[in-house]
Amino acid sequence: MENKLKIFVDRLKNRDEKIKEEISFQDLDIKMEEELQFVKPILIDGKAYISNEDLIINLNIEFSISMPCSICNKFVEKEVLIKNLYIIEMLKDIPAIYEYKREIKNACFLEIPSFVECLGNCQARQNMKNYFKKETDKNFPFSNIEE
Ligand SMILES: [Zn+2]
Repeated sequence: MENKLKIFVDRLKNRDEKIKEEISFQDLDIKMEEELQFVKPILIDGKAYISNEDLIINLNIEFSISMPCSICNKFVEKEVLIKNLYIIEMLKDIPAIYEYKREIKNACFLEIPSFVECLGNCQARQNMKNYFKKETDKNFPFSNIEE
């Protein structure tokens, strides 16, 4: 990990700093779960700069996860893009080096979908639809009562 996801505030005094990192889920202290896997490196791209009394980090994050399809349970890979994430910290609260690992981790977790479906259109869904339809009919026992 070394200097990844760290900003040396002194270096920013008169210029922006470009950020281009490729990190792994281990770098973020994310434990692999059986039902949620990070399949590629996490790409981080953007810049850091100082504005008045604040350190501002502006990033795009790109990563891919693999999760079981909520319908057929086959593992599905899903790409997640986080555009224009802002991390803002007051300079007076930063010792000399600002590490934004936790912010990246939180941002990634917020964007992970709670369920995925294979190819956005699971083959098994068609069968499910028929099932749901039948259930729906059953759930309206009074629909045929005449007024
Ligand atoms: Zn599926």
